[in-house]
Amino acid sequence: MTDKSAAAAARATVHGYPRQGLNRELKKAVEGYWKGTVDAGALRATAAGLRRANWRRLADAGIHEVPTGDFSFYDHVLDTSVMVGAIPARHREAVTADALDGYFAMARGTQQVAPLEMTKWFDTNYHYLVPELGPDTVFTADSAEQVAQLREAVALGLTARPVLVGPVTYLLLAKPAPGVAPDFEPLTLLDRLLPVYAEVLADLRAAGADWVQLDEPALVEDRTPAELNATARAYRDLGALTDRPKLLVASYFDRLGKALPVLAKAPVEGLALDFTGPAAANLDALAAVGGLPGKRLVAGVVNGRNIWINDFAKSLSVLGTLLGLADRVDVSSSCSLLHVPLDVTAERDIDPRILRWLAFARQKTEEIVTLARGLAQGTDTIAAELAANRADLASRAGSALTNDPAVRARATAVTDADGRRAAPYPERAAAQRAHLGLPLLPTTTIGSFPQTNELRAARADLRAGRIGTTGYDERIEAEIREVLAFQEKAGIDVLVHGEPERNDMVQYFAEQLTGYLATRQGWVQSYGTRYVRPPILAGDISRPEPMTVRWTTYAQSVTDRPVKGMLTGPVTMLAWSFVRDDQPLGDTARQVALALRDEVADLEAAGTPVIQVDEPALRETLPLRAEDRAAYLDWATESFRITTSGVRPATQIHTHMCYAEFGDIVQAIEDLDADVISLEAARSHMQVADELAAAGYPREVGPGVYDIHSPRVPSAQEAAALLRKGLEAVPAERLWVNPDCGLKTRGWTEVRASLENLVEAAREVRGTL
Ligand code: GLN
Ligand code: ZN
Repeated sequence: MTDKSAAAAARATVHGYPRQGLNRELKKAVEGYWKGTVDAGALRATAAGLRRANWRRLADAGIHEVPTGDFSFYDHVLDTSVMVGAIPARHREAVTADALDGYFAMARGTQQVAPLEMTKWFDTNYHYLVPELGPDTVFTADSAEQVAQLREAVALGLTARPVLVGPVTYLLLAKPAPGVAPDFEPLTLLDRLLPVYAEVLADLRAAGADWVQLDEPALVEDRTPAELNATARAYRDLGALTDRPKLLVASYFDRLGKALPVLAKAPVEGLALDFTGPAAANLDALAAVGGLPGKRLVAGVVNGRNIWINDFAKSLSVLGTLLGLADRVDVSSSCSLLHVPLDVTAERDIDPRILRWLAFARQKTEEIVTLARGLAQGTDTIAAELAANRADLASRAGSALTNDPAVRARATAVTDADGRRAAPYPERAAAQRAHLGLPLLPTTTIGSFPQTNELRAARADLRAGRIGTTGYDERIEAEIREVLAFQEKAGIDVLVHGEPERNDMVQYFAEQLTGYLATRQGWVQSYGTRYVRPPILAGDISRPEPMTVRWTTYAQSVTDRPVKGMLTGPVTMLAWSFVRDDQPLGDTARQVALALRDEVADLEAAGTPVIQVDEPALRETLPLRAEDRAAYLDWATESFRITTSGVRPATQIHTHMCYAEFGDIVQAIEDLDADVISLEAARSHMQVADELAAAGYPREVGPGVYDIHSPRVPSAQEAAALLRKGLEAVPAERLWVNPDCGLKTRGWTEVRASLENLVEAAREVRGTL
């Protein structure tokens, strides 16, 4: 095909669309089903209605080929486990009794059985359910759901492309089932899995699929030669099938690297590649392998995981280059639009001029259609759109919001000294010991106490105008007094105010910082029926006023024990927000850090002896490619140090991280130069303490001895046993006693009992030292 005829054939498509519906109807229906207020028939009808509405919306906007199978009641990786019959033994009974209830049992567990483990989908905030496989796993094809959804779309007269998790990614995301040797590699099951995919592909072909998309995002991570060989074998075998649809192998979130030549050579009919962010490197790499002669290329030029409008001129230039590299070039989102909210026009609180810079799923769809039209019919046909796009980009680039001279000057003037504490750690530790006068094995908590219905009601009353700020503040102060009184009585050493004023650990700060936008309807699926509204880092960041000082100082005024101030760190602020795409992440992090540094200074000046800066996201935003990690950790740790280094040696800086698996970032944790770190450890039986000790981590550590993810109350004996385990790795002078994480999702009854036991455990172990 010539460039010109390739261009003329250009079509618009997307990899997937948000599932929830405009008013989160899916969440309501699924939760209603769990509660028993919605029956299975009604739930299925709601789901089918949402799918139909999405496809119609896509088709009406001009999308030529709509995705199917991107919908899910809970998670598409779980759907894949069902599709290949990988039902763990403990869930089989529930699945046999009732497929839908069994499905939810795998997702959420029941009184009798634990759910599948949940973990992050690559470097996004979406969570999938981890398949559990072992040498005895028998795969069986169950294409019913995929086929049914395809038929629904076909019945609407649409061209539809089923989207499946590819076999290699599915296996690479799996873990050994309980009882299976931990070094078992699920990828060794590939030959057993491929015939099941072959069967599903044949069923989809019979149901009317011309193309099927197989998602292989695991190939954008560093893969071993053996894994790349397995990939080549998988697609050689699937390609060799006779009764199959055309295959489109998709990758996203980063560049393909060594996997690109493997897929380019595979006997499949098309590849879908991401050309945004770090994946932009796919462009040169594609040219270097000689393009995709004879193949279809689906070009992800519209970022599917950020909320900024596209740069049409830039995308058209990329698409123009791609025309010379494939037989046919289609325009798409870089990944499923699952990761962005639905519709910008639902936002009422954002300045309309700024709204023009934003594109959610619906607007991204329109961008894709415009670009495909420009490619197919010539840019003259989209002249008006191009002009408007240029104007919107110019308005963003020139706006006062994105160019605050004071913020920029301050960020430029940052020196190494700003990221260095005045004294080295050993000196600080001595000063802090003298200043705080804490016992050995000091006890503390991670910050939040239960978020009660009364607190939520108070916030709702304030929003609705039923109470004024004074009335609201009084309720918060009353809660703080109660939280403090409990901690004093329980005998905790370093107290917290309990974070009752926070709606969320990022949004609370975002709402108070200039340059940050909060959305009203910007819901994005985090897992199952849980949706979050990430705020938007839109402009240069500054802090008009102190954000937490009022509550911390109030707390300190009603107790004689030290109160710990509580902030969310810059890396986590970025990780759980939509970030700017018009400057390096490190620049945005530095601006946030400087705003937080002022908050830290104000807390210290107000007499706060201990300040905790939470960074639970430090590990999770680690870049997918190892070669990108050093640069990330550089700005990430620098921004933490800028936040925390302005204080006196005697002021103790804590940090907190959730999640196990710290082994590969121990150096980065040390580079934070915090005085104390608290970590999740109860479930992994203090494994992190061992890891930190093995790596020679020289600071104070609080590995969690109370697993807050479970309503279970740990006994004092149990907590003491964990503490003794911790003491094998960390000397008593450096060991803290605390829960795994904040207590906001727990009930007061369990929290009271658990913390009392935790204090008792600390006392008991202290007595033996
Ligand atoms: N300080 C926060 C809290 O206790 C920390 C939350 C977190 O680590 N995710 O809620
Ligand atoms: Zn935590």
